[in-house]
Amino acid sequence: MKCKDGVTLRGLHWRMRSLLMYASAVYEDLGQELVVTSALDGEHGTYSWHYFGRAFDLRTRYFDDPKEVSVMLGLVLEYVDHRTQVVLEEDHIHVELDSTVSRHEDCACNYCYERGCGQAGEG
Ligand SMILES: [Zn+2]
Ligand SMILES: [Zn+2]
Repeated sequence: MKCKDGVTLRGLHWRMRSLLMYASAVYEDLGQELVVTSALDGEHGTYSWHYFGRAFDLRTRYFDDPKEVSVMLGLVLEYVDHRTQVVLEEDHIHVELDSTVSRHEDCACNYCYERGCGQAGEG
């Protein structure tokens, strides 16, 4: 895993770090080194999760089919935490941890498992 020059990971939400590790493993499987192109640096939309350390962007230019990669990444990362949103942008994949996403019933993601959801009534 590498970061593009100028990328700031400082302040990244701790769970985002584990999402990065999983994303890195997916990229490795596909024969590419994961390159983070943005995290807490740079300019993003006004209410972007980037400013809260809950989003990062990943390089896609070495893939023939970035769409397929983003779908695969979405499946893996949602299994880690169902709040993960993976969005294919024009020249990168945007990954965010959206705290407003509610869990689905019987969610089997690691996050819900750790928190013992299914017994407790909280989301
Ligand atoms: Zn982004
Ligand atoms: Zn869940």
